[in-house]
Amino acid sequence: MRYAFDLHIHSALSPCAEKDMTPNNIVNMAAMKGLDIIALTDHNSGANLDAARRCAEKAGLLFIPGMEVETAEEVHLVCLLPDIANALELNRHVSGALPAIENREDIFGSQLIMDENDIVTGEEKQMLITATRLTVDEIYLLVRSLGGIVIPAHVDRPSYSIISNLGIIPENLQIRNLEITRNCDKYSFKAARPELDRFCLIKSSDAHSLGDILERESFLELEALTVQNVIDTLK
Ligand SMILES: [Zn+2]
Ligand SMILES: [Zn+2]
Repeated sequence: MRYAFDLHIHSALSPCAEKDMTPNNIVNMAAMKGLDIIALTDHNSGANLDAARRCAEKAGLLFIPGMEVETAEEVHLVCLLPDIANALELNRHVSGALPAIENREDIFGSQLIMDENDIVTGEEKQMLITATRLTVDEIYLLVRSLGGIVIPAHVDRPSYSIISNLGIIPENLQIRNLEITRNCDKYSFKAARPELDRFCLIKSSDAHSLGDILERESFLELEALTVQNVIDTLK
């Protein structure tokens, strides 16, 4: 069966996201738009994953715990994990690899941690939107060892993408899917880059506000709606 997904969504934990990107608002908007599968992918943190998972389960959406990790090369990688425990293990590595810089809320915005009732339970003080010390290779190996997958984010953008920053997709990364932004035309993008022939281009929203969450426009063919099936299909 065909299921609609959006695998790149930020909550109010990401300083650049709107404050109303709460776990319930994200899930309710995704459900209203008719999505079947969503991933929460905050910058370098998984602190809102469990709250969002609980909301998604209540609403009957399949929830994939994720994170958008910024590597040492300033490449953004969407990392999708099979469960919260593995996502939190990734979180532990990533948070240990961030430079000790406090977030400047007045400049970058707040980094809100919330529970499943959208109550703010804390604020992340560590600045999240910055590069970790972990390289693309290291993140790839770490995420694979945790049973997850890596999807290079917004490869059509001129910055923070694996193509803009490395020029190529390193051959040692067994990656099949690359993420493009919502306004990217996948056919002309690919036609201009024959070297990307072996990759599938998938569209997610990179939503920082509720309205930006995808409609039913990106689909996966799955036998059954499970996290493992999504990961196996995208592997
Ligand atoms: Zn990004
Ligand atoms: Zn993003």
